[in-house]
Amino acid sequence: APSIDVRAVHKRYRGTVAVDGLSFSVRPGEVTGFIGPNGAGKSTTMRLILGLDAPDSGEALVNGVRYASLRTPLLEVGALLDAEAVHPARRGRDHLLWLAHSNGIPRKRVDEVLDQVGLASAARRRAGGFSLGMRQRLGIAGALLGDPPVLMFDEPVNGLDPDGIVWIRGLLRELAAQGRAVLVSSHLMGELEDTADHLIVVGRGRLVADTSVAELLAKA
Ligand code: ADP
Ligand code: ADP
Repeated sequence: APSIDVRAVHKRYRGTVAVDGLSFSVRPGEVTGFIGPNGAGKSTTMRLILGLDAPDSGEALVNGVRYASLRTPLLEVGALLDAEAVHPARRGRDHLLWLAHSNGIPRKRVDEVLDQVGLASAARRRAGGFSLGMRQRLGIAGALLGDPPVLMFDEPVNGLDPDGIVWIRGLLRELAAQGRAVLVSSHLMGELEDTADHLIVVGRGRLVADTSVAELLAKA
């Protein structure tokens, strides 16, 4: 069964059609690249999957149910949306400790994920001094905290240096190899072609292509 199932979703903001009848699914054990130019509806789709907004019609399901019906959301879906908005006076680690505490996750898990994203010592500092790349890493740490089988990352490469980009590609592959379903967006096809197993290409809120990378390369 697919881990994420987007079915005939429509979403309009006043005059703007953000998502226009989009359907696709994300399977466990795969990195699915979500590709399209800025404004194509990728972030909106992710927000709809996370229940941060409601579709006008259609539905977005996670493990067969709406996000709002998940009993332990952070343990079931991890997400990086906009680079983590943490209050500048707050220490990165304290933010994660609070997230862990409010979701029944053991404290020791915080140091494990900080280690995993390379922020073990930096996260003891206040978030106000973090670079965009550090904020992305902190957001990724938050997504990993609940050890969820489903993960979504919106433009995770933004603000990362070349080492960071290599790191994130490896992380995405590792998460898929562990059997997790991973949806990752980018406005650049080339950013994900070596990393993704499957590609969902969108433009103006509509599906342009839904293909495995192997299939695509066989045609090229
Ligand atoms: P992408 O993530 O692919 O860049 P978005 O989902 O952010 O695309 O945006 C799709 C379209 O919907 C854009 O035209 C954007 O300006 C519009 N949009 C997204 N969120 C809102 C909102 N909250 N209010 C009004 N328009 C929005
Ligand atoms: P992205 O390209 O990742 O979607 P944006 O900067 O377009 O990032 O959007 C950031 C936030 O602003 C999102 O919550 C989105 O829903 C909202 N947003 C985007 N476009 C508009 C818009 N035209 N009017 C109001 N809110 C918007």
